[in-house]
Amino acid sequence: MDMYMPECSGPELARVLRQMPGHVSLPIIFLSSETDRERQFKALEVGADGFLTKPVEPRRLVAEVSLRAERMRTLHALMVRDGLTGLFNHNTIMQFLELGVANARRDGRPMCFAMIDVDRFKRVNDTYGHPAGDQVLMALSRGLRMRLRESDVVGRYGGEEFAVVLPGVDGHQARGILDALRASFAEVLFYAGDATFTCTFSAGVAAFPRFAGADTLVEAADLALYRAKRGGRDRVEIATAADFGPGGREGADGR
Ligand code: GH3
Ligand code: MG
Ligand code: MG
Repeated sequence: MDMYMPECSGPELARVLRQMPGHVSLPIIFLSSETDRERQFKALEVGADGFLTKPVEPRRLVAEVSLRAERMRTLHALMVRDGLTGLFNHNTIMQFLELGVANARRDGRPMCFAMIDVDRFKRVNDTYGHPAGDQVLMALSRGLRMRLRESDVVGRYGGEEFAVVLPGVDGHQARGILDALRASFAEVLFYAGDATFTCTFSAGVAAFPRFAGADTLVEAADLALYRAKRGGRDRVEIATAADFGPGGREGADGR
């Protein structure tokens, strides 16, 4: 970025960029003929990452920019992805949900949000060990990524819980998609030492526009998930208004 430009100065523009959450990881390097050290420091104080004075050797410019661009990509990936599964993390999947709701509302199209929770996962850890549990989580996330469409977004909601945003899909279709995933996941054979085992998951689906906002979709999907658990696990349930009624969560544990 230049220091002196028409309309606004470099430090002014940098200050604005630094206030935009979507640009926190964007590197800014000033390239200017400004040689006054004091003004250079002032420019850096707004959150710039470096200052190069003109004339600059082309190789130096390329090196400075590509180094920072590469570091930004690495940092960005760490910020939005979950370390174990490589899926989007909790915050990122929630942002995609907000975006999905906004798009669905604008285009007058359906969309769904699904919550997936591995069944009796604590037992898997206790019986076969934590590394075996991790294998299950990685296998499930691979399965989700492979079998969903390009436009669907998958994230690790936390622990053994996953969340999926399905644009353009109604509740009935989402249930079909999730149920096919459920059936194929239940077939996967896991190995831990000499033992083999299988795992299942339960899922709750909430559909837009029946549930019209991101928060409501999350709550509804969660309630449907609890109904799936209560109903015996290894199943997919679609959220209805009745899930919000009295006793919607009663006996949810069902163990
Ligand atoms: P339910 O069918 O009701 O969902 O039972 P559950 O055992 O799956 O549920 P619970 O919430 O009791 O246990 C979840 C377990 O998931 C507890 C926790 O130790 C385990 N867990 C959370 N994150 C990880 C992880 O990254 N790796 C492994 N191996 N285990 C994890
Ligand atoms: Mg859970
Ligand atoms: Mg569980």
